[in-house]
Amino acid sequence: MIMAIYWLNGDWVPPEQARVPVLDRGFMFGDGVYELLPVYQGKPFSVDEHLARLARSLSEVKITCPLNDDEWRALILAGIEKCGAAFATVYLQVTRGIAAQRAHEFPESQPTVLLMVTEAPRLERREVTPVAMITLEDFRWGKGHIKSTSLLASGLLRNEAMTRGADDAILIRDGRVTEATASNVFIVKDGIIATPPKSSYLLHGITRDHVIHLARKAGMTVEERDVPRHELESADEIWISSTSHEAWPVGELDGRTVGNGEGGVVWREIDKLFQQMKAEFVKD
Ligand code: PLP
Repeated sequence: MIMAIYWLNGDWVPPEQARVPVLDRGFMFGDGVYELLPVYQGKPFSVDEHLARLARSLSEVKITCPLNDDEWRALILAGIEKCGAAFATVYLQVTRGIAAQRAHEFPESQPTVLLMVTEAPRLERREVTPVAMITLEDFRWGKGHIKSTSLLASGLLRNEAMTRGADDAILIRDGRVTEATASNVFIVKDGIIATPPKSSYLLHGITRDHVIHLARKAGMTVEERDVPRHELESADEIWISSTSHEAWPVGELDGRTVGNGEGGVVWREIDKLFQQMKAEFVKD
């Protein structure tokens, strides 16, 4: 059984006992924001970066979180201890809270705060199988930098990709790559790494930042620039990056094999650097 513990509005509860009223804005409107961060060997990774992004998301959607950063940090550590798994994910969610009735205007409500710590064996046993992607038009809203719980469009896109036999979709807006449904996208051509720049059309991934930092520190060139769709076709390598996948190769795009289909030399180097960074973090 997967080990998991939830904290909801002040109480530790087993997952099956966590409940919110139907008039919670999160249930009615997807009116909330969230974060997901990894736990390696019992230690939460990049907490400051995730809390900073949570604060930016909250400020954009005008929700005042009842917890400050120190309270979040203490809660995250307590949750990891209670969960008991060495490798886990910590999910934080804040919704606008419970309204008196269903109405679009924001109520004067007390935000609903949820933390879930769930065992994640995949973070420990890294078995990398390249993913198959297709390209789809990015029809999500124009505020993709907010980590919003309103993920219906992402779900539709992911499921469209899966219906067509792929694992996920690389999304295209105005002829340019934005990101995938739950990860950022990198391409490599002639040894040069490129990734779409931060904008309001994509999530500013924390793994993306780590990958860019590691690559530059190792002397590689990383360009943060528009990536037109046609560059996907001629790329030597394509990868995605996210908290749950780290840097992960795309083996197939729109039915064509990417590079050797198994992850290229640049991805291998980045993955090695990423694993070293994790090992050093765990040791410290
Ligand atoms: N882009 C989207 C749409 C995501 O949902 C995610 C993560 O869930 C990412 C990118 C990657 O972000 P991070 O590296 O911070 O996990």
